[in-house]
Amino acid sequence: MNNLLADADLCVKCGLCLPHCPTYNKTQNENESPRGRIALIQAWAGGHLETSKKLVEHIDNCLLCRSCERACPAVVPYGRLINNFREQIRTERDSTLAVSLLKRVSHSKAAEHLAQSGLKFYQTTRLQKAARLLKLPGLLRLDKVDRLLPDYHEPTPLEPYYPAIIEARGNVGLFIGCMGSLLDHETVEAAIKVLTTAGFNVLIPEQQTCCGALDLHDGDNETFERLAAINCSAFTDKNLNAIVTIASGCGSQMQEYQQAEFAEKIVDISQFLIKSGCDLSDQLTPLTASVCLHTPCSLKNVMHEEQGALKLLQQVPDIKITALPASIQCCGSAGSYMLDHPLMAQALLNDLLGAALEHSPEYLVSSNIGCALHISAGLRERGIALEVLHPVALIARQLKCKQTD
Ligand code: SF4
Ligand code: SF4
Repeated sequence: MNNLLADADLCVKCGLCLPHCPTYNKTQNENESPRGRIALIQAWAGGHLETSKKLVEHIDNCLLCRSCERACPAVVPYGRLINNFREQIRTERDSTLAVSLLKRVSHSKAAEHLAQSGLKFYQTTRLQKAARLLKLPGLLRLDKVDRLLPDYHEPTPLEPYYPAIIEARGNVGLFIGCMGSLLDHETVEAAIKVLTTAGFNVLIPEQQTCCGALDLHDGDNETFERLAAINCSAFTDKNLNAIVTIASGCGSQMQEYQQAEFAEKIVDISQFLIKSGCDLSDQLTPLTASVCLHTPCSLKNVMHEEQGALKLLQQVPDIKITALPASIQCCGSAGSYMLDHPLMAQALLNDLLGAALEHSPEYLVSSNIGCALHISAGLRERGIALEVLHPVALIARQLKCKQTD
């Protein structure tokens, strides 16, 4: 409680964060702003405000996009404040069925394999079509998960080690993430292809597990710490130059692990390639297409690595990249937020799609699987054929040498 108060007391109530807050911009309600939420937590921690449904709702409506934290001159650790508050009131909050299911799948390899088989059966037989026709996902309150499912692709089983295909310049660990291994095989395979082409040996420790973000944001610090310890041990003593992530949601969380030696090695894959001086331009076929670049909040506001994807994509000859205007804030996916807060998530997505489609792009690239799934679902629902993929997946498609084909 003292930590909570000490963090909240850092806020000088200047309001400079307000224009950067998506929920405040949408509602114009101070309780839905960073300053308002901090004041609510401050009053609660000081014993001046009871725990109530309304209080919990205002805090839960926060996307944890941390745009406010980036703008704050007083360096209020907003993310930590919200996570600590949620831990304190954990018994007052219930996880929805969809979030509980996601957490269960992300915590164990056995559950993940079961989910993989289940998804294959659901999506490759007529079950998904029949279930949607009968509105079963809605009746089971799983429609928000069902809408996110991309077309099923059979995953290639992963090896623990992929050697560099040119003279090796270093070793990297690849963090796959629970959603990556379940729903984004193209990005996983692309990451291996691009890293080995760039001269890195790639290690994929089997022991790695979910980054724990879902648990931390749900107030379950104990599970979060347990998952963090497993990941640190999975990547330890492997002589790694870096641990690269292909989902900035996971990367941003792992950069904040208490285990500094592990956290300092975490880097987004595009940023890593650029920082390592990789120039793949001679090995990439031209792409005469317009690409809209979406920069996830986690990459921008927490990892501070937003230039990596842009610089990497600029290596593709003939490519035309348009970035979203600064007025477009969070896409609304925000971990499990899109499952629990569909109205706000859709309102934010509407803004993003409106801006993205202005330039009629052929591709939209995003460095976070959660954002990519939410944006893809929004496009499908609107009947718009625009492919959403990871920047590294686009790079891998343009590589002249198809190493893993
Ligand atoms: S910018 Fe920082 S100090 Fe100012 S109101 Fe927002 S959180 Fe408080
Ligand atoms: S984290 Fe994002 S949604 Fe939450 S208060 Fe800060 S700016 Fe607003």
